[in-house]
Amino acid sequence: MQVQAILECTECRRRNYSTTKNKRTVTKRLELKKYCKWDKKHTLHRETK
Ligand SMILES: [Zn+2]
Repeated sequence: MQVQAILECTECRRRNYSTTKNKRTVTKRLELKKYCKWDKKHTLHRETK
């Protein structure tokens, strides 16, 4: 089952990315290194909610 996941920058707390995840295979919160244009570098982004 695909659900929408919003990814939030852990440094500036902005919500930069939205993606989908498979709830059956991904049970934990997503954590991804993504480029944050506000911080101008790669930061850890975590699923919100
Ligand atoms: Zn940021």
